[in-house]
Amino acid sequence: MHVYLYNIINLIMDSRNYGLYRRYTKKTFTNRGKGHFGLFRDRIPLTPENIFLLILPLLLMLILIPPPKEVTEEKTDIPVKEEEIEPISIVVFNNADSVIDKADLEEYLIGVVAAEMPHSYHQEALKAQAVAARTFAVSRARGLYGIFTEHFGADVCTDSNHCQSWISKDEFLESRGDESDWEKIAGAVANTRNMVITYEGQLINPLYHSNSGGATENIENVWPKLGAVPYLKSVYSPYETEYGEYIKSTVIKWDDIKNKLKNKYPKAELKDDPAEDIEVLSYSASGRIKRIRIGSIEMEGTEFRELLKLPSTYLEFSFPDEKSVEIVSKGFGHGVGMSQCGADALAKKGYTYKEILEFYYTGISVEELKH
Ligand SMILES: [Zn+2]
Repeated sequence: MHVYLYNIINLIMDSRNYGLYRRYTKKTFTNRGKGHFGLFRDRIPLTPENIFLLILPLLLMLILIPPPKEVTEEKTDIPVKEEEIEPISIVVFNNADSVIDKADLEEYLIGVVAAEMPHSYHQEALKAQAVAARTFAVSRARGLYGIFTEHFGADVCTDSNHCQSWISKDEFLESRGDESDWEKIAGAVANTRNMVITYEGQLINPLYHSNSGGATENIENVWPKLGAVPYLKSVYSPYETEYGEYIKSTVIKWDDIKNKLKNKYPKAELKDDPAEDIEVLSYSASGRIKRIRIGSIEMEGTEFRELLKLPSTYLEFSFPDEKSVEIVSKGFGHGVGMSQCGADALAKKGYTYKEILEFYYTGISVEELKH
């Protein structure tokens, strides 16, 4: 553009053109009264230079007035201010009172983080939880994961076994913490506003659990029907031993185990000695029980955990006597995706919330939600 303008100025200032211009004005003056049109037609030859001078004002207008397209491009270059981002709403089925409500996503997330993670955890862990919870809610609102038949049309429910827990601010203040604790959680949500986890551009299914017991689990070992997912792979998580959820010992009467099994499998055959009747058939790579035999019944480790309401499938058995079974479990929860205890442990070691999420979800990105 600059070169073009420079050329035009050069042409105007060119002595030949300047001379022509002088001749033109002089003749205009001397032939005043004859009519301009006649003067133009009769006296000025149609040389390229003259044609150029005639269309010069039009050219200058085209140059000086920018086309409307450029104006709109400039507008889109201006960054969108936070308050201009339209709030996202989410439809929540509250299992506690069986009410479906539409809520502001960011407001709803404060209640999720407050219910899902102790407020005493490090701020970066709370932020990682907020981003996971946001990704969970939005991915379900967009129909990417989950089953909606239990929601009566809502995007998510407040049952932690199905979706994510949630508590109101009043409930939180009554039972869990004070106003400053709530503000700490609200800050974790606000400081990660609109941030979500993606894998190859798509929102992930950000499963999480309380404590991994030392290693997280491949999703296909917990939900075989879902199959392998590249970002939900087992990772070593070594810093969770200090948490109360890390290890638990339970002694259960052999008769109680037998009764529970018989209720589900009336034809099950069992012996008197539990040491003969409990046999681990296979383990997953993370060390959790994959297949287990109880008497004549073989089942998945996850089914066994559910049957006895155990904290995890990371189990060791011992037999103090012939009538009881001691089960030592490591970790708490299904073990897939982010460990919340592990997130806190990593945050205390200096990891940012993004680094925590990258640690537990293999190969993901943390980015702003695209509307
Ligand atoms: Zn649900």
